[in-house]
Amino acid sequence: MMPDPGVHTYVNMLFNFDNTYAQQLEGFYSSCQTATVPSPKLIKLNTKLASELNLNLDDVSVNDQINIFSGNQLPQGAAPLAQVYAGHQFGGFSPQLGDGRALLLGEVVDKNSSRFDVQLKGSGRTLYSRGGDGKAGVGPVLREYILSEAMHALGIPTTRALAAVATGEKIMRDTPVPGAILTRVAASHIRIGTFQYFAARGETEKVRQLADYAIARHYPELKESNNPYLSLLEAVCDAQALLVSKWMLIGFVHGVMNTDNMTISGETIDYGPCAFMDSYNPAAVYSSIDKQGRYAFQNQPPIAQWNLTRLAESLLAVIDTDQERAVELVTKNLNEFPEKYSTYWLQGMCCKLGIKSTQQNDLDLVNDLLAEMHEYHVDYTSLFRDLADVLTGDNKAAHKHFSNTMKFEQWLDRWRDRLASSELTITASIELMNQVNPIYIPRNHKVEEALEAAISVSDYSKFEMLVDVLNRPYLQQFGKGEYEQPAPKEFGEYKTFCGT
Ligand code: AMP
Ligand code: MG
Repeated sequence: MMPDPGVHTYVNMLFNFDNTYAQQLEGFYSSCQTATVPSPKLIKLNTKLASELNLNLDDVSVNDQINIFSGNQLPQGAAPLAQVYAGHQFGGFSPQLGDGRALLLGEVVDKNSSRFDVQLKGSGRTLYSRGGDGKAGVGPVLREYILSEAMHALGIPTTRALAAVATGEKIMRDTPVPGAILTRVAASHIRIGTFQYFAARGETEKVRQLADYAIARHYPELKESNNPYLSLLEAVCDAQALLVSKWMLIGFVHGVMNTDNMTISGETIDYGPCAFMDSYNPAAVYSSIDKQGRYAFQNQPPIAQWNLTRLAESLLAVIDTDQERAVELVTKNLNEFPEKYSTYWLQGMCCKLGIKSTQQNDLDLVNDLLAEMHEYHVDYTSLFRDLADVLTGDNKAAHKHFSNTMKFEQWLDRWRDRLASSELTITASIELMNQVNPIYIPRNHKVEEALEAAISVSDYSKFEMLVDVLNRPYLQQFGKGEYEQPAPKEFGEYKTFCGT
């Protein structure tokens, strides 16, 4: 079945589109139309992001805005297209994936001169939909909205959510569910899988063209380097080492780190079965389809390296015509990943403990705390926040996490000794800790509660409130205590499902 061509009229200038992907990368996508939907309703518009992106909201009626964010009308200047890519999914290679339920409307340049993709997710079938319907349910759409905006507020590179619209149609999943469309904003949607698609087909010139485009868009300073393609690999390795360290520091499990879900820009993308940990558990897995725990919390750094190795393979032919030499070059690069990652992670962990300049034996201090937290199933987010109170002389909240506090007390003594020799005053340490240890994360039970109300009775008030609280994760908010707590016991073991 071909995508529904729909009936579209261009409406006035909501976006100042400037579409480089469509113009420069012919052969890397297929042009495509959105499907029309029966009765779209705006669930949420991210007005702050709209303003950063220079959207002309004042000049476009609310009705036209809803029509645009639902795909019923195309905004002026849009060049809608589905990008093609491949990818390793749970270790197995799929030579053709691509945007099956997403459509790039175009690119905009924001107030800081940064370029962003504007994409509709759930807007109907494309050439790459395979057996799927190209649609999205309101659950996965609002989940991505909540999670991606929370990650942004937490200071973690991520795609953003600009709008969520209910389409007014029911789509078939296990049962019929209300359909919705997310407008997603990303530095770009170029994935490791985009390179893999062309490399697997032996299209070396296309790999080069894509690499040139990625360099110009994300790492323009590399253009002049000796071997720009090797430098590109190095830059992506660095961006991903930093990104994954931030996931590990905040307790985030992505859940489906396939190579088609890993960006060249270093942004978190594709919020499907992801979740935040409550109690600290290195083996935490939430995705119902990740039976082997391939994408468990502690596996994220090595999986990132595995994925980057797939990127390196895809770039070999453009890195050096002598393939042995190319392999040698990328191997050196890839081997540096664990060290790069560990350095970022340890620096981040030290900040969580109020230490600014990391020393080598800080690793033991950190690991010993984590081991204790694991043993006593300590809530990851609140313990770190409560540690700052210990420095003001109030042990109570921190102690409550441990049924046996003797070993924890010994650890606290070591930590206090370490802080005494650090260059920061206690006040400065507390300040540093409170800047990096959030009070509010998207607690799984709160996310589910918000989605349930939206799915079952189209009540978006819990979703609204949750998004609002998560907008300021590091600041104590009056009357919002319920958002700080981990899930109650009755919530049980948390299982997530892929976001279709
Ligand atoms: P994901 O697991 O979300 O990364 O998606 C993997 C691939 O499946 C991508 O190529 C998606 O575009 C495609 N896909 C997922 N859901 C649908 C759907 N409902 N209709 C068409 N394609 C889909
Ligand atoms: Mg994906």
